[in-house]
Amino acid sequence: MDSSNTQPTPKQKLTPSAIARYLDQYVIGQDAAKKILSVAVYSHYRKLGKPRSNAVEAAKSNILLIGPTGTGKTLLCETLSRILQVPFVTANATSLAQSKYVNEEIEALLLRLLEKAGGDRVSAQHGIVFIDEVDKLKSTEGEQSGASGERVQHALLKIMEGTPVRLGGTQTLDTTNILFICAGAFVGLENIALSTHSFGFISLDGGGGNDNQIILDRLNSRVKPTDLFTYGLIPEFAGRLPIVASLQNLPKELLVKIMVEPRNSIYNQFRERLKDEGVELEIEHAAFQQIAELAPEYKVGARSLRGIFEEIFTPVLFQIPDCPEVRKVIIKSLFEEPSLITAG
Ligand code: ADP
Repeated sequence: MDSSNTQPTPKQKLTPSAIARYLDQYVIGQDAAKKILSVAVYSHYRKLGKPRSNAVEAAKSNILLIGPTGTGKTLLCETLSRILQVPFVTANATSLAQSKYVNEEIEALLLRLLEKAGGDRVSAQHGIVFIDEVDKLKSTEGEQSGASGERVQHALLKIMEGTPVRLGGTQTLDTTNILFICAGAFVGLENIALSTHSFGFISLDGGGGNDNQIILDRLNSRVKPTDLFTYGLIPEFAGRLPIVASLQNLPKELLVKIMVEPRNSIYNQFRERLKDEGVELEIEHAAFQQIAELAPEYKVGARSLRGIFEEIFTPVLFQIPDCPEVRKVIIKSLFEEPSLITAG
């Protein structure tokens, strides 16, 4: 087997590029976000491995992922936790804001992290907590939901800064070295960012005009903490998320890749399901393209692909167990019945 396809053992050096290569096996596209995340987690865990000294102590850098739903934010973090072999839990900021007992919910979240670590407190204290939909916590003047959102931001701020949290009885978990990754779609943030950026004045004359333009574009596409305040996050909360990575909507060709390329791709999973029935599965490229064209209509990014697959395959999976003579199924187009090839 190709060695680049295997998870590095803990002894192998997990450099940012090795982390990004591993992510590539499971997450398609989103190269800029992969790079930012790889460097951030590399620095975070490297710092943990160092003895405490009176040398410069870098502050913990939690991460904010901005991007539409179904573009791979959760998948990236889950995959990261696997490569780093640290426990991983997710929470939803909207549900936290709806709860009367935010602190209890946060305790329950940390308790889940401890469970994921098999009860090992040291391992839990190096885990990753992923909090989705933090954009829904924005304060909107005079609104009830705004007030509860702000309450959740304050509660999260405390654990993100690092504090010992009492879990039920006598156990405590110190959150100082837990990596918090927040995420959200932040619809409308791009307009705020566009109206506040002022990097267009750098002269583009002379030599590397093209390179300068690339640098300008990069600076202008950066989300600044002030953009997040304008959006409605409280300054202290936004200030705790100094590393920001953006994920993009997935174009059609990447949706096709997502169905086929990752190690646990949907195509492989369905091939495996049919293999269990002694049947080979082949889907032709045109059919993948049709699925990729259909997917954006559901407006949930790549998340819709599984549903479309399930829909296509339900009649096949219903029929196949009664047809032992069928050896192969070929899907050429979504507008044609699947071809069932029999033995002999
Ligand atoms: P979100 O950005 O909303 O957190 P997820 O990471 O939960 O999205 O993605 C939902 C599902 O869609 C994943 O489980 C995966 O199957 C698929 N998916 C989304 N983005 C990608 C991607 N970039 N590469 C591979 N699969 C993806």
